[in-house]
Amino acid sequence: MENGAAKPVIVAIDGPSGTGKSSTSKAVAAQLGLSYLDTGAQYRAITWWMVTNGIDIEDPSAIADVAGKAEIVSGTDPGNPTITVDGTDVSGPIRTQEVTSKVSAVSAVPEVRARITELQRSLAKSAEIGIVVEGRDIGTTVLPDADLKIFLTASPEARAARRSGELKGADVNATREALIKRDAADSSRKTSPLAKADDAVEVDTTELTLSQVIECVVTLVEEKRAAK
Ligand code: C5P
Repeated sequence: MENGAAKPVIVAIDGPSGTGKSSTSKAVAAQLGLSYLDTGAQYRAITWWMVTNGIDIEDPSAIADVAGKAEIVSGTDPGNPTITVDGTDVSGPIRTQEVTSKVSAVSAVPEVRARITELQRSLAKSAEIGIVVEGRDIGTTVLPDADLKIFLTASPEARAARRSGELKGADVNATREALIKRDAADSSRKTSPLAKADDAVEVDTTELTLSQVIECVVTLVEEKRAAK
């Protein structure tokens, strides 16, 4: 089907880190002419703002008090996804070890989630052709009416190996421990934890190449589009 003739489709892709969520979501969106939103980048951006402004990350009420202060803007072109905080490009700084180690604490604060969820819903609503939104709670909380929900999984070993590859040779064991710790925090928080929606399609990527995962998700989206 021509992209111009396609009906808008909302795709939610959730799962823990290192399952290939970002690479898959970006490629699927690009291939199908859809917008793309990396919600992890938004939580990283607000965490970067908290760290830069000296907010005590151990104090949820201090975080809640300033949850609405930063202006976070996400560009949704899958070929060039951007993220700014108060007009500053933070695409590099949000990937530092410091932000990665603090993001779970910040994203567990309900006021932070309410603020970021609102941004996510408004971006999804304004995507005329449709959007692929990746995260942890997209299918369960942010967009429960998404046309298609995918939950990506992979063994902890495969996830750690992929992440250390991305981090250019970081120690696999240390990466594995850090991933497990972050997933445990994200899965056990009270407000919209990392979880598979009941109606999500689970794809175990442990034994699959990235191209295979992309192909599988593209096929699922095309089936949904055809049925709309
Ligand atoms: O996907 P990424 O690893 O960049 O996400 C960073 C963090 O942002 C996660 O560990 C989680 O704490 C938080 N996050 C979230 N909900 C989402 C996406 C990310 O809480 N929808």
